[in-house]
Amino acid sequence: MTKIVVLVKEVPDAAVQKKVGADGRLDRSGEKTLNPFDTHAIEAALQLKESGALEVDEVVAITVGPAGAEKALHKAVSLGADRSIHLADDALAGSDVVATGYALAELVKRESPDLVLLGQQSDDGQSYAVGAVVAEYLGWPGLTQVIKLDVSGTELTCERQAEYGYDTVKVQLPAVISVGDAINEPRYPSLKAIMGAKKKPLEKLTIADAGIDASKVGAEGSKAKWQSAKEPPAKAAGTIIEDEDTAKTVEQIVAWLDERKLI
Ligand SMILES: Cc1cc2nc3c(=O)[nH]c(=O)nc-3n(C[C@H](O)[C@H](O)[C@H](O)COP(=O)(O)OP(=O)(O)OC[C@H]3O[C@@H](n4cnc5c(N)ncnc54)[C@H](O)[C@@H]3O)c2cc1C
Repeated sequence: MTKIVVLVKEVPDAAVQKKVGADGRLDRSGEKTLNPFDTHAIEAALQLKESGALEVDEVVAITVGPAGAEKALHKAVSLGADRSIHLADDALAGSDVVATGYALAELVKRESPDLVLLGQQSDDGQSYAVGAVVAEYLGWPGLTQVIKLDVSGTELTCERQAEYGYDTVKVQLPAVISVGDAINEPRYPSLKAIMGAKKKPLEKLTIADAGIDASKVGAEGSKAKWQSAKEPPAKAAGTIIEDEDTAKTVEQIVAWLDERKLI
């Protein structure tokens, strides 16, 4: 039997305007949600299970994040994960990507799954890097931007979306695969599944419970040191062209684009 772990992150809701907080970092207060890119990873796990391509025993959702992050896990189990694990500990505050990846890899080791799936990027940090860090800590093959997954025994044939086209790559399980958002169309949870989600097992862990080395996480354990964050410059007001004479309007638009070397 096979076990799939899906890594999911809680992020600020897309409708919340992202801003720099008083501490000079991303203000993560306000409404939060499951990272939309991670719903593709959950869907990929469920499709492997439902199609019988892999004899999947269970799908386990894992997150590293503050107390409220379990809302993202509820969404993950309402979509179809069988249970979830939440690592929350004050010692994790200020962890950079490598420290976060290390903590996630330790949680994965406790579960010893056959496959780890994750999203291509988070909607807030957008490093696109966690999958590679987790794979490195586990010593497993790691692939990014996978948009097609075929399984044959313990071999995965993956199609990767790249700038120049598509790569086809084979890896042996266990492996860490970050999926591109073109891989599937995630399902919506049913009302029944949303109601039932709270009954599915949720394990809450501290770093001590998980055997995580405190010196490798948090601001102290991170080699990247936060300096500052600043908001992007405000956009300049646009130019409004009134369409009184269409031929002249077209001329004005073409001249405007030409001035900016856009045509
Ligand atoms: C110096 C420094 C200090 C930081 N301090 C903080 C801080 O105090 N608080 C804070 O919230 N962030 C902090 N961050 C940001 C934090 O390190 C990143 O958000 C985190 O490492 C994940 O990177 P990402 O969000 O860019 O993920 P990406 O690499 O873009 O995500 C890819 C995929 O990885 C998975 N994933 C990513 N993060 C998690 C997670 N936490 N749990 C489960 N799966 C995950 C998801 O499937 C996601 O789709 C800090 C970053 C730096 C550089």
